[in-house]
Amino acid sequence: MDRSKSKALFTRAQLSIPGGVNSPVRAFKGVGGHPVFFETGEGVYLEDVDGNRYIDYVASWGPMLLGHRHAGVVEAIRAQAGRALGFGAPTGQETELAERVVSMVPGIEKIRLVNSGTEATMSAIRLARGFTGRDLIIKFDGCYHGHSDSLLVRAGSGLLTLGIPNSPGVPDAVASKTLTLPFNDLDAVRRAFDAYPGQIAGVILEPVAGNMGCVPPLAGYLDGLRDITARSGSLLIFDEVMTGFRVARGGAQALYGVTPDLTTLGKVIGGGLPIGAFGGTAAIMDHIAPAGPVYQAGTLSGNPLAVAAGIAMLESLDENFYRVLAERTEFLAGGLRERAARHNHPLTVNFVCGMFSLFFDAPEEVTGFSHVANSSVDTFNRFFHGMLDRGVYLAPSAFEAGFLGLHHTPDVLDATLDAADGAFADL
Ligand SMILES: *Cc1c(COP(=O)(O)O)cnc(C)c1O
Repeated sequence: MDRSKSKALFTRAQLSIPGGVNSPVRAFKGVGGHPVFFETGEGVYLEDVDGNRYIDYVASWGPMLLGHRHAGVVEAIRAQAGRALGFGAPTGQETELAERVVSMVPGIEKIRLVNSGTEATMSAIRLARGFTGRDLIIKFDGCYHGHSDSLLVRAGSGLLTLGIPNSPGVPDAVASKTLTLPFNDLDAVRRAFDAYPGQIAGVILEPVAGNMGCVPPLAGYLDGLRDITARSGSLLIFDEVMTGFRVARGGAQALYGVTPDLTTLGKVIGGGLPIGAFGGTAAIMDHIAPAGPVYQAGTLSGNPLAVAAGIAMLESLDENFYRVLAERTEFLAGGLRERAARHNHPLTVNFVCGMFSLFFDAPEEVTGFSHVANSSVDTFNRFFHGMLDRGVYLAPSAFEAGFLGLHHTPDVLDATLDAADGAFADL
């Protein structure tokens, strides 16, 4: 497959952009080679600058749940662009989006819109500290919550891919307020609460981890966290930037029946444009300025284009959507397992509705970061390039999830499995 124009664009980009990209994982450093530069997207397909076509499982890292150029979303953006791009003053549509989210997500009674997932988690942490009057935060190894100082401690996603567990530039004084524990291990959480009584403001996690690859919660884990935090007057924060509107209409909290105090959202909620959000019970959210003293603000927050795209996205998502999405995800996961077994490659496939990950040469059950870290990155990387050359675009890292929507029709899934069969055979 000729990708010479992509290669030339990357060479040029590196002269004016650090590493040639505006977000690290895009650089292909984890998998080797140079990134693909894209030009158009249509439904499930991407076309690159060299005219090659790919089935897309990155979905802009999640937001393209309805596929590229979804007519409803594009039309909503176009209509809003014909009215105004922004006011820095409230609009009725912001309330409409807020009401929609409140009606869909069990843990959200009130919600504040921001511009990214990073802003959402950073603000939720500040609110948890301001509300409880405590400083310590618990997070989990391999979970990624954006790049704010408090949360950039032993994080997943690009840090994991690039092998940067803790970033220079985060002061020890800030990092020391974040306790990092193993995911899916309730005893570790109990021990931390015993060691720091009355000092833990909140526990933040991806309820289905996605930024060390897809790692679902073990049975009882989320309930256990709910119990421990409630008993200690600490807040439970679900970072649903990835899982929100993806694993169920009401997010992971609806799927697993555990309601957190605060929820952060991003990705799907913007329909492909930049939005994040954080929400929770009215009693907690009313601590945010101007209702309360915890300060949080944004010049472009609630941007009318992003809000229009978000409303159009959410209004297309009914329960039937998730029933079919769960079936398609399961079909793909089963097919990948079967093709790998056919070629004698030990492969663990984790999945939850709309997201999946492949772990090569890993334990049969991948339930935490230590398992993920021991999977074969080298084998994944060869599989990744095998798929890319066969026209399937997976996330360029062994530690990221793949994303599906209903535009991944049975024909598209069959084509993906044919490509996988060839890629496994070549490993
Ligand atoms: C992507 C992601 C973030 C960060 O969102 P940005 O919009 O990239 O700032 C935070 N938390 C989770 C779980 C994510 O997947």
